[in-house]
Amino acid sequence: KVICATGVVAGLIAFFWKDDFNPESLSGARVLVTGASAGIGEQIAYHYARFGAEIVLTARREAVLQKVMEKCLTLGAKKIFYIPADMSSPSEPEKVIQFAVQKLGGLDYLVLNHIGTNRFQEWTGDVDYTRWLLQVNFLSYVALATAALPTLEKNRGALVVVSSLTGRMPTPFTTSYSATKFALDGFFSSLRHELIMQKRDVSVTLCILGLIDTDSALEYTRGKVHISASPAPEAALAIVRGGAARAHEVFYPRWLQQLCCLWALFPSSGNHVLRTFYNYSSP
Ligand code: NDP
Repeated sequence: KVICATGVVAGLIAFFWKDDFNPESLSGARVLVTGASAGIGEQIAYHYARFGAEIVLTARREAVLQKVMEKCLTLGAKKIFYIPADMSSPSEPEKVIQFAVQKLGGLDYLVLNHIGTNRFQEWTGDVDYTRWLLQVNFLSYVALATAALPTLEKNRGALVVVSSLTGRMPTPFTTSYSATKFALDGFFSSLRHELIMQKRDVSVTLCILGLIDTDSALEYTRGKVHISASPAPEAALAIVRGGAARAHEVFYPRWLQQLCCLWALFPSSGNHVLRTFYNYSSP
């Protein structure tokens, strides 16, 4: 009965929930997208380009950024620049924000999306890898957001943070990755409270994604999970819309929101079912 009631309530919320997305608001918007050379970040850049935004792209591989930049121009970006940067280096975030502010004259959107290589394997005890991943997936996000807050505040801007279901609900084979995503939720949800309490008009949108069909995700999960992947362009559009609508949270696919509610109500049976989606044979 409780499961049915929760499902009905969540279904009604999903049915009546409409975002306030106005595509025209993105024409001329000044956007910085991290992890923009591939996967979801690349698709996010293409959506902003179609909406006529002014964009700065960043990731490590310059040649690939160049190609994404060229495609953005054909799609309708009003202005576009790129800056190669490795987010495992603590000095890079500030440089990237300075570059974007200098090229665009300010920022309206900061989309934090990059990640370091996810191993998708059992915990091996590699503490150095966890430390490195925290730098790339979490600390660099904090540093980028901190450096961008003054310009975002001036422009009633938006911070958009790309996270994962495994940042809400721990899943197997993602120990370090899951920790970095939980850290993002803790930091940015707390920051959202403070910004609201201080009446500083910067929205914080946390995006909770399920498995998405990017090359990297398909490669590291191959043969290990029985879950079908959703399309990256759709995930990217949900992120762009959620940021523009100043939503607190975006779930993609949408049913993840109901799944999280159910898991919070029934964690033990939820975890049992969850484990059946993973291939595992004990050594
Ligand atoms: P990809 O692996 O496809 O892309 C990662 C991006 O980050 C690339 O542009 C890569 O470019 C860049 N990057 C990697 N290392 C660094 C680094 N050290 N410094 C700066 N940039 C770096 O990832 P996805 O598109 O699959 O994921 C995007 C976001 O979506 C992530 O936040 C991820 O956690 C989230 N997500 C993805 C899911 C999925 O199934 N795909 C599921 C749930 C969440 P380069 O190599 O040029 O540096």
